[in-house]
Amino acid sequence: MAYDAEPGGDPRGPNCPKCNQLILPHQPTTLMHFSDRSSLWHGECARPYWDKLSPLLERLQFPPGS
Ligand SMILES: [Zn+2]
Repeated sequence: MAYDAEPGGDPRGPNCPKCNQLILPHQPTTLMHFSDRSSLWHGECARPYWDKLSPLLERLQFPPGS
């Protein structure tokens, strides 16, 4: 149980932060980066966030007027 407090410390594998379920080896995953840490999400769980974040990231990479 000591592992529970550590992100990625579960010996069974990483938990998806979105649905809090174990990410199984055969499931599609997406690596999400938030500030200084990155974590593995189910591909389907991460999708809505990508839809929201992608335009934002594009604007950061290519600022208007540059
Ligand atoms: Zn998930």
